[in-house]
Amino acid sequence: FESKLPNLGVSIFSQMSGLANEFSAINLSQGFPEFDAPDLLKTQLNYYVQQGVNQYSPSSGVPRLQQQIADLAKRRYAADINAADQVTVTSGATEALFVAIQTIVRPSDEVIVFDPAYDSYQPAIELAGGKSVHIALSAPNYTIDWQVVSQAITKNTRAIIINTPHNPSGKILQPQDIKALKELVGTHNLYVISDEVYEHITFDQQPHLSVLRDDELFTQSFVISSFGKTFHSTGWKMGYCIAPADLAVEFRKIHQYVTFSSFTPAQHALADMLEQQGEHIDELSGFYQQKRDLLASHLSNSRFKILPSQGTYFLLLDYSDVSDLNDVEFCHWLVEQAGVAAIPLSVFYQNPPTDKVIRLCFAKNDNTLIEAAQILCQL
Ligand code: PMP
Ligand code: GLN
Repeated sequence: FESKLPNLGVSIFSQMSGLANEFSAINLSQGFPEFDAPDLLKTQLNYYVQQGVNQYSPSSGVPRLQQQIADLAKRRYAADINAADQVTVTSGATEALFVAIQTIVRPSDEVIVFDPAYDSYQPAIELAGGKSVHIALSAPNYTIDWQVVSQAITKNTRAIIINTPHNPSGKILQPQDIKALKELVGTHNLYVISDEVYEHITFDQQPHLSVLRDDELFTQSFVISSFGKTFHSTGWKMGYCIAPADLAVEFRKIHQYVTFSSFTPAQHALADMLEQQGEHIDELSGFYQQKRDLLASHLSNSRFKILPSQGTYFLLLDYSDVSDLNDVEFCHWLVEQAGVAAIPLSVFYQNPPTDKVIRLCFAKNDNTLIEAAQILCQL
């Protein structure tokens, strides 16, 4: 059998969570919260299931959820979004990313991605017949050099994928980044796929610079988010894509044949959640900042060097004073011998650097974070 994705194996997240279970380790590898989704969300899901709201929704989403998403974009980013024409509810951000990529990438098109890159981008680009062009960002700051991006653009370049706040580095894009992106998009007539799944998790009072804040940039963009991150419900696989109407029409042609529609009762429950407990979203940054700071403070006496995290629920550690192993070997050692599961950074690169950096997820209960830090402090 000739594989369409010959170089791919099982995702690093499945691998490391599997090892964490096997070795009964504290799992700070795969990014998911240890705590539960809000009560209202769970109650309302049950309610709609019991009420018999169990059939297909309209393909682009339940209208009242589309409207809540548009209202949220208005409240957070002063964006004027037309719910019916521009918001499409998807089965997680993963589906939205896949569909957006299939929508715009044609055979031989090039798509610029920034490494370390979330692992779902490249396979989706390849399945569309395109080619991912990787620009490597480096520890400790993972800053984009837009001059380098400009030089990577060819006549085949079709799109740039950005991810802010950035998984795994926690970096958030600054006004100068958005300005430089906008210039390139305008000059070369490119599209933007903006992965904003951690949009509501930014630290130290820094605003999230959504593409939705910029009317002009939005005309060329697919803005993607996930309720899994926002409402501690990664297993529900609910997300959405906001795009200008002309792009949304094309996006929906593909979405309808990938899944047609997403889980109807969950869409209603999410609409209720957004309508009745919007403050959950406003409190999310503070909630996770406390966890970032707790983990960092308990690691301050360790031999790990803590890299800055401006958003997301991830913290990077430089372990060069702890071990000479490469990061994949070190993560295997860490989960098997020390009892803590982490993610090696090199797996997010096309050309892995020799940096000794691992990623920890701090979407965990405080006692879990303290326990993990105590182990790491002994290394
Ligand atoms: N993009 C990034 C950067 C992510 O971290 C994740 C979640 N791991 C996703 C997309 C996928 O989100 P979802 O679980 O909603 O498909
Ligand atoms: N986004 C999660 C992470 O970065 C993992 C999602 C998955 O397992 N596919 O850890």
